[in-house]
Amino acid sequence: MSILVTGGAGYIGSHTCVELLRNGLELVIVDNLSNSSLESINRVRKVTGKGFPFYEIDIRDKDGLKSVFSENKIDAVVHLAGFKSVGESVQIPLHYYHNNISGTLTLCDVMKTFGVKKLVFSSSATVYGNTESVPLVEDTPLGATNPYGRTKWMLEEIFRDLFISDNEWSIALLRYFNPIGAHESSLIGEDPNGTPNNLTPYITQVAIGKLNKLRIFGNDYETPDGTGIRDYIHVVDLAQGHLKALSKVVSTTGIEAYNLGTGKGYSVLEVVSAFEKVSGKTIPYEIVERRAGDIAKCYSDPSKANHELKWRAEKGLREMLEDAWRWQENNPNGYATVNNKPLQIFTRS
Ligand code: NAD
Ligand code: UDP
Repeated sequence: MSILVTGGAGYIGSHTCVELLRNGLELVIVDNLSNSSLESINRVRKVTGKGFPFYEIDIRDKDGLKSVFSENKIDAVVHLAGFKSVGESVQIPLHYYHNNISGTLTLCDVMKTFGVKKLVFSSSATVYGNTESVPLVEDTPLGATNPYGRTKWMLEEIFRDLFISDNEWSIALLRYFNPIGAHESSLIGEDPNGTPNNLTPYITQVAIGKLNKLRIFGNDYETPDGTGIRDYIHVVDLAQGHLKALSKVVSTTGIEAYNLGTGKGYSVLEVVSAFEKVSGKTIPYEIVERRAGDIAKCYSDPSKANHELKWRAEKGLREMLEDAWRWQENNPNGYATVNNKPLQIFTRS
């Protein structure tokens, strides 16, 4: 079976590609490298020892996408391409709507033209909006607090309309909780641009000496230690969720949302303390004002994915942080730390 992965050069995409290749699937990757580098594609090849076509294409380029579908047999699509920064989406909302919404509409048009109606989509726990009725279940009413979140919510609704119009479609909406960590080989991992917004890459950059200290956004939440609680999930567990979702969508029709989380929440202070144990480093921190838009608690009820996809997150917080730290130590400047001669890649622009 051959799968098109959009956004395959990104953080979650590269880990997902590794899991799909390891399980015998053939891949075609499309990415415009707007938030990633070709080196991550080199590393996916290195980790798996497998080859695949890579197209440097924007998913809004309809003719480009059509040529991908004409030149390759595609059975299903895993669609991860999109912008993902909450703060940036508030500053430049139109870019987010153009990229995430128009890009996905173009992809669906081309899929329809080529009769490919099997889709796994990267949604997010952000579609639960401000809801704090944890653990979150899939039928919680949806909402959004920023343009990025609204793109995910709108796309979920668009996919539902698409299915109502043509019930041959089969779509899995994967609502990710907080993916962290890296591949155990430390060849692929998270490589944020500039100063990280997210907790774990911020902590690892403090530990390696690139940043001075962590700023903890509030310790006056209604949680046991006052800091925010999140459901951190190992990115490899998350990647395996895509494999299970693919098995489901290719064997059925319909549209279903699934939480991909562990079901367990950790506070910021618990993460800091677990990281200090794993790395042997002290993480200096200061408590600062709450960050706008943050909520106290967000963690999943993953039972639907456990039962219907036969998927379960296996790795605990210690393993997530060990792998995040190994990646950071071995790649202090992310993919800019190129130790190997790049492998030859089939690139099309
Ligand atoms: P990422 O930025 O590392 O990966 C996204 C990839 O998509 C990048 O390689 C980027 O170059 C590519 N891309 C963006 N716009 C494109 C376009 N128009 N055409 C082609 N390629 C394009 O992000 P990630 O963390 O791997 O996230 C992947 C998906 O998962 C995104 O849709 C994101 O919104 C979603 N998600 C991420 C998280 C998270 O915490 N990382 C949580 C929930 C959902
Ligand atoms: N956080 C923090 N300092 C940082 C980054 C994050 O205290 O530099 C906190 C944030 O307030 C939240 C948790 O860490 O409680 C996870 O934040 P992250 O941005 O990683 O993920 P989010 O759940 O907000 O998408």
